[in-house]
Order: sequence, then C-alpha cells, then structure tokens
Amino acid sequence: MTHILKIRNPRTGAYDYELAITAPEELSGVATRLRGHALEWEAAGADARATVLARWKDALLAERTNLIDALIVDTGRKRESIMEFDSAIGNIARWAERAPMLLTEAPSRDSIVRPMKLTAASTPLGLIAVISPWNFPMLLALIDAVPALAAGCTVIVKPSEVTPRFIEPLRRTIACVPELANVLHIVAGGAATGAAMIDVADAVCFTGSVATGRVIARHCAERLIPAFLELGGKDAAIVLDGVDIARTARAIAWGGLANAGQSCLSIERVLVEAPIFKSFSEALAAEANALELAYPSLDDGVIGPMIAERQAETISKQLDDAFTKGATALSGGKIENFGGGLWCKPTVLTNVTADMKIMTDETFGPVLPVMACRGQEHALQIANSTEFGLSGAVFGPRETADAVARLMDCGAISINDAALTAIVHDGEKQAFKHSGLGASRMGDSSIARFRRRRILIENPSLSNDPWWFQARP
Ligand code: NAD
Repeated sequence: MTHILKIRNPRTGAYDYELAITAPEELSGVATRLRGHALEWEAAGADARATVLARWKDALLAERTNLIDALIVDTGRKRESIMEFDSAIGNIARWAERAPMLLTEAPSRDSIVRPMKLTAASTPLGLIAVISPWNFPMLLALIDAVPALAAGCTVIVKPSEVTPRFIEPLRRTIACVPELANVLHIVAGGAATGAAMIDVADAVCFTGSVATGRVIARHCAERLIPAFLELGGKDAAIVLDGVDIARTARAIAWGGLANAGQSCLSIERVLVEAPIFKSFSEALAAEANALELAYPSLDDGVIGPMIAERQAETISKQLDDAFTKGATALSGGKIENFGGGLWCKPTVLTNVTADMKIMTDETFGPVLPVMACRGQEHALQIANSTEFGLSGAVFGPRETADAVARLMDCGAISINDAALTAIVHDGEKQAFKHSGLGASRMGDSSIARFRRRRILIENPSLSNDPWWFQARP
C-alpha cells in the first residue's frame, strides 16, 4: 500500500499537496542499486565526477523556476527561496571546481620512522544517507550530498517531510543526467523512512534538531557507522560599548530575523553592555518594527510565515514563559493567524532574564531577547551558558571584539557582523557542545569526511626485517 504525505501550505494552512512516501522496505533495493554503481563512479575519477556535477547544475538551472516556485510554496517566503536556490547552485559549482584538486593524492613519500615508502590510496566512504530539515529545504538537502558525490560516494537524500514539494522537480533534474541517477536517489518521507536509510548506509549526514540528532547518533552507534551531525543553536550576539549603534542594530536585525528567524545560525540572544543597553534596544526595536510581514502577498514585506506548525507552538510557549516571568515586548510578541498561516511579527524583548526559556532553548523564530550585561565577562558567561555551541557574533572595537570572540564557546563567530557562515562557506569550523558532532562541513577539508584513508606501506628492501623472528640456528 502506498502511503501519502499530505503537505501543509504555510501561508494558507491548507493541506494542498500530496507526495508518495518511500516505504522503508524499498530502501534495501535502492541501496543495492546504488552500490552496484559505486565502483564505476569511483573509477571514473574526480574530473569525470565533477563534469557530471556540472551537467547536473545545468539541469537544475533549466528547472530553476519550478524549483524556486516549489520552495516558495513550501516555505511561504520568496527572497530567501531565490537565495537558497542560488546558494545550492553555488555549492555544486564550487565542489565541481575544487574537488579534483582536493582529491588528488599526495605523491608517495619516505616514512620518517623506517626506510619504507608510503603511498596514500584513499577510498570513498560508501553509501551516504543525507537527512535534512525544513528551514532551507533544498540547500540543506544538497549541502553534504554534493561533496559526498564529488568524493566518489553514492548518496540517498531524504528532505524534510514538512517541505518536500521541490522533490519532484529535483528528481527530474537527476533523471536528465544518467550517470548521476545511478548514484544519487531522493526519497520522501519522515522518521520511518529516515531510520530505514540509516539501516542501509555506511555513514549519515544529518541536519536537524538536537532531539532527533540524539536518536540518529544512537542508531548509528548501534551500526558502528559515522554520524556527521549539524544540530540546533542559540546564537548569542555580544554588543560592546563603542559600537556604531545604528549599524549594529541593522546587522543584528538581519542576523536574527532573516528567514523569520528560522535558521540554525540565527541570532537568538543579544547581550549588550549596560551603558548602551537602552539606546541599542530602542534602535533594534525600530529596525524590527520597520520590517513588514510578507502578507497578504509574497512581495508585501520581508518576514515570511512560520513554516512548521509545531515550531509556531514552541515559539508561542517560549513567549508565554517570558511574559509570565516579566519580559516586555518592544515589538511583535505573539503568533498570529492571518489567512490560515501562522505569523510572528519581528519581536524584540527586554526585561529578560537568563532563566527564561527564550534565553536557554532554541526558538527558531523572529524573536530577539535583549539583555543588559555588566561587562564582557558577564556577557561571555551568559553567551556560553547554554547547551548549544553553533555560532555567535561580537560587535565592538576591533581588538576587544577579537579577544571576546576567542572566548565564545562555539564554532564560528562573526565579528562586527552577524550570521556570516550563511554567506561565507569556506572557513572550516565545527559545531561545539550539543550543536553537532564531527568534522567541519564548511571549507575545503570537509570533502575528506567522505573518503576513508588507506595507506600502502612498501618495503623496498627484500632482506629480512630485524624485528621478524630470527631464523633458528
Ligand atoms: P528534525 O530533527 O525534527 O527533523 C530533521 C529530519 O530528521 C527530517 O527530515 C525528519 O524526517 C528526520 N527524522 C526525524 N526522526 C528521525 C529518525 N528517527 N531517524 C531518521 N530521520 C529522522 O528537525 P527540523 O524541525 O526539520 O529542523 C529544525 C532543526 O534543524 C533546528 O533545530 C535547527 O537548528 C536545525 N538545523 C541545523 C542546521 C545546522 O547546520 N546546524 C541547519 C539547519 C537546521
């Protein structure tokens, strides 16, 4: 029996799209088919694989309108959908260009411990399961899949069941490139399909929540396969005395409110040195109040709806908790239903305390709690006090900001700007604490995640080694 995913439109609340779920039982057949092409994909070499990826990029560009339209309907926002598509294309172009150089094995060399020759001969990691979330549906479905393919792996991708409309046009683009269709398969479904992927994979790249990340880590541990986890965040921006207040407020408004705050690397806490707290909070509230909802039409404003209904509930509960404990909204402050969609006007909160859920738990919405701090140490103590360690930002005089940034317990810190890892992808970084596990997904070295290192150790001498058992007299 075919099961169907019914998909909610975040602007209308209507379930207006259906897609067949890939049954978990189908996954072993998919895996067998992909594994059957693994050797020829690796043997083709990095240049040939890069050429295939470049042809796929052309096929994606030919479907640009349909893919972007699907993303727009599933997410309810336009500008970010266009940026997302362009970023996904940029990701393919970058790996197609750089992978052949990055995958070139170093020449053989002499060992420094024995007179032996060492030759690197790495091999693809195998079949990679990519499981992704709904906030940037296409970008995050492809962000690990592309370097994995470039590295010679075969890949199964499962985009989020919340936003799967782009799967159909995406599948069409893959069908246009037969060599790619042999090694890349897109499935549709939720947790059961995702779990079945893990059962057939050699490694998992997961992007999603900490809660699901734990389940996936356990599943991978059972199977003794690597799990590369990119999880949630609660990024702090520290604002030091001496900044240009207007510029900083504009930057933090973007860093916290773009994509309606539905980004792992959104600024979710703003920690401001006391002398500028009042003027800064007012400037930030003015920025937030100036941002219009993209309602009733897509082009009316820049803040889209809450994409996932359950996330709107989380935001609502966190706001209730904050108001009960004394927070004040300088803008926004609630989830509202307009035309069947769930919306949250950009929200700036003051009178917040470190124990409020809005300061400790991931919000994933357009909410910026602003807290006054006694100084750098106090700001750092609050910034580093959550379970998360994804990224952060520091605004201040250059040298002081640099020093404070080095003490933040997270993997990427924007200095005098916000959320720069969304724009700059070539700096290597890891997720700290519960925000993730594994080597950097960003930067050139990330492709190495998809190769197993193998070494050939050759003894050029044909005489007996001194450590062997000695011949008996
Ligand atoms: P989620 O954890 O609910 O789901 C993510 C994916 O996991 C979905 O495709 C889902 O079907 C799948 N899944 C759920 N249970 C599974 C299981 N048992 N086995 C296998 N697959 C399973 O996350 P979400 O709500 O879709 O996304 C929001 C979260 O993603 C936020 O926490 C956000 O911070 C995080 N995120 C992180 C990054 C990053 O790079 N660190 C980027 C974007 C989003």
